[in-house]
Amino acid sequence: MIKGSCLCGEVQFEITGEVTPIQNCHATRCRKATGGAYAPEALASKDGFVWIKGKGLLTEYTAPILNAPPAYKRAFCKMCGSPLPVEIEGTNFMMLLAGILDTKTSTLVFRHAFVSQKACWHEITDKLPTYQGQPPVPEKYKS
Ligand SMILES: [Zn+2]
Repeated sequence: MIKGSCLCGEVQFEITGEVTPIQNCHATRCRKATGGAYAPEALASKDGFVWIKGKGLLTEYTAPILNAPPAYKRAFCKMCGSPLPVEIEGTNFMMLLAGILDTKTSTLVFRHAFVSQKACWHEITDKLPTYQGQPPVPEKYKS
């Protein structure tokens, strides 16, 4: 069981099973959404995902479509602004940022996405695969 929560603790969720490996996304929109150098994105199956507390504080923002659907959608806590898991339309997955997890997980970062939009002040120092744009979705996570 993996637990996660926002900064103020008013929103809590649980995931049965594991989350996917983490993709560090350097896209401009992901940097804006997090305030960080990248968004550490993991997926969790909707089947094992449950909101424990504070679902009413969940707020969603959908950005205008840039190139092609689906739209860029973010969820956050209305109280503290922490990024929260959001459904990926047309799939069986929730996308979450690994920094909000409270439970230790064996999941590791496995690649970098949208490196062409990387912050000028950030240097990638690991040897993980890099993709200039959106990498392909691993076959096992398509649904
Ligand atoms: Zn909060």
